[in-house]
Amino acid sequence: MTKKTIGFLGLGHMGAPMAANLVAAGHDVLAFDPVPAARDQARADGATVVTTAAEAARDRDVVITMLPNGKLVLDVYTELLPAARPGTLFIDCSTIDVADAKAAAEQAVSAGHRPLDAPVSGGVAGATAGTLTFMVGGAPADFADGLEVLEVMGGKVVHCGDAGVGQAAKICNNMLLGISMIGLSEALVLGEKLGLSHQSFFDVVSTASGQSWALTSYCPVPGPVPASPANNDYQPGFATALMSKDLTLAANALRANGIDGQLGELAAAIYDRFAQTAAGRDFSAIVTEIRERSGQ
Ligand code: NAD
Repeated sequence: MTKKTIGFLGLGHMGAPMAANLVAAGHDVLAFDPVPAARDQARADGATVVTTAAEAARDRDVVITMLPNGKLVLDVYTELLPAARPGTLFIDCSTIDVADAKAAAEQAVSAGHRPLDAPVSGGVAGATAGTLTFMVGGAPADFADGLEVLEVMGGKVVHCGDAGVGQAAKICNNMLLGISMIGLSEALVLGEKLGLSHQSFFDVVSTASGQSWALTSYCPVPGPVPASPANNDYQPGFATALMSKDLTLAANALRANGIDGQLGELAAAIYDRFAQTAAGRDFSAIVTEIRERSGQ
């Protein structure tokens, strides 16, 4: 391994374990988060903590951001880009709007840096275990340079295309997942009404043309897939608030690109409504909402 100097900004649920894994792999990590408790945790994990964003970018090989939204990424880039030495690799791992990711990349290039958008899937468990999947957009040479660092935090790293295309892969996947979870849940609730047991539904559909990952790995009712959140009172897993956020990003992208994405729009609206009352529950709990709204 080549030891790198890394600035890491955003030490929340995901960023904290990701930064800890970089330290454990022997990299020199300068960490920043405005929340003091997050900085304390990073210090305990072996990172060097700084008290301004700009300090975290100074004289680093790589600067990584893991932030809640695109506006924050663009805001913090105005401090980071001038502070970094020319040619710094900027890797944004946050899930943000494709348009914001492209704007952040353009600003980084204008400032003489090398940007990658590298959103993840795998949640806090994947971040802790270092088994995240990274979907990466950016120039091939920059991807090659970032690969070693990304592989410390991830089990799978895929170069998807130019700037913004990593975010595109993330929202396309999650839009499809949201739509398929709603469709599956409607079918399950219809089956309940018609006298079809969950197990019989599973036994038929899991090997028939209606098969999906949502059913076979993440079944939204207890029983057929023992490890799914439905067996654990819908503790996330993948929280409804995060699914709602990703579907909103997908719906924005549908509109911005003139796509007739009726199911994507509807899925965003359904999860937006569900998030008003169930933000912290696993997104597969949508089946309980459909059951309730069907008077069952
Ligand atoms: P989080 O809210 O737990 O953490 C975000 C952190 O960013 C907070 O600690 C916050 O204080 C910090 N922050 C805010 N402004 C900052 C600034 N200017 N400089 C430095 N730090 C700043 O969020 P999270 O769950 O860690 O998610 C981070 C990103 O990862 C989001 O974009 C989310 O959509 C994405 N994501 C999350 C999950 C998940 O399961 N939590 C899974 C996949 C992707």
